[in-house]
Amino acid sequence: MRDFFQEQLEQLRARSLDRHLREISSAQGPEIEIAGRRLINFSSNDYLGLANDLRLREAAIAAIGEFGVGAGASRLISGTQSPHLRLESALAKWKRTEAALCFSSGYAAALGTIPALVGPGDVILLDKLCHASLIDAAKLSGSVLRVFPHNHLGKLESHLAWAQREHAGKRVLIVTESVFSMDGDRAPLRELVELKKHFGALLMLDEAHAVGVIGPNGRGLAAAENVSADVDVQMGTLSKALGASGGYISGSRSLIEWLINRARSFIYSTSPPPAIAAAAQAAIDFLSSPAGEERRLLLWKRIGSMQELLPNNGLNKKGNAANSAIFPWIVGEEQAALDLASGLQGEGFLVPAIRSPTVAKGSARLRVTVTAAHQEQQIRSLCQAIARLSVASL
Ligand SMILES: *Cc1c(COP(=O)(O)O)cnc(C)c1O
Repeated sequence: MRDFFQEQLEQLRARSLDRHLREISSAQGPEIEIAGRRLINFSSNDYLGLANDLRLREAAIAAIGEFGVGAGASRLISGTQSPHLRLESALAKWKRTEAALCFSSGYAAALGTIPALVGPGDVILLDKLCHASLIDAAKLSGSVLRVFPHNHLGKLESHLAWAQREHAGKRVLIVTESVFSMDGDRAPLRELVELKKHFGALLMLDEAHAVGVIGPNGRGLAAAENVSADVDVQMGTLSKALGASGGYISGSRSLIEWLINRARSFIYSTSPPPAIAAAAQAAIDFLSSPAGEERRLLLWKRIGSMQELLPNNGLNKKGNAANSAIFPWIVGEEQAALDLASGLQGEGFLVPAIRSPTVAKGSARLRVTVTAAHQEQQIRSLCQAIARLSVASL
């Protein structure tokens, strides 16, 4: 029999689009170990360095002592344990929303939520650069799907007018991210809120790369822009700056009650381990404390250094202040991005090459992420290595 998978893999390889796993034989942190070698890690979303933090570890261990490992059942059966409810009330309090609901991942949060909000006949307007979880969820909902060019308010407005005309009386959901995962830029949130109010649409905001990073106590972009109350559905992840695992939705009590009744990824999946909920809650407690705010400000200091030191190759917009902890360093060709990443690995840095289909073809890039746990000197030497290697490849 023909080995279809082998043939398809060879096609991927010929286009430099094949992907492979690599084994990390250490805990997460600014330095990790791969194949017996220590590398400085500029690839992680652990922006505050909490993934291996003692507070989170101890919270998880204590919860294992009390609740064991597995949750045993889905949330609506018998999988809702005290740590899950404590986490949800901590989340709601931190986000200053009426309620919050946890999912086993951010991906699951998107996949369960969007189809619970809109269905066939309704309309979803999605930013072109939205994360795969939001795209998949939008498709799964069976709604009419329109994509607007990245952050393009004019196009969004004409889509909204079109939806009002052609789908009168139907629900319209705008979906976007506060910080875009592969570009590190921000959505024009205040203007989006104005538009959604004008057209009576719903707004869902994925704060995956903003929570822990942006806004007072890391509450995200909606909090920073003071428009929390106008964002109908706030989504986020516990897996990035919060150092644990899982996703959440926060919003009104009725929204959360509705999701408990209708979000299939919530209903038909075993509850996340209670120890993970306890660890996530420890992260929120930390973020809400003065020490957490200090850690967040340290992250911004590191972001400032990266912004200042990262060389300019002409393809990257530098300039104004950085918007997030994500620095795309666009190279263009897929193979060139792979070569640069492997050159950096040779010099002791782990920086991922991001290729199609994660980003558009021909915009392959290094995705450099900086964390509060990096030393200034590590950032300096990475930037020197990027400058050296990219000159060498011209
Ligand atoms: C990572 C990410 C998710 C998914 O969150 P997980 O907890 O990793 O499943 C969703 N949206 C965006 C924008 C992300 O970057």
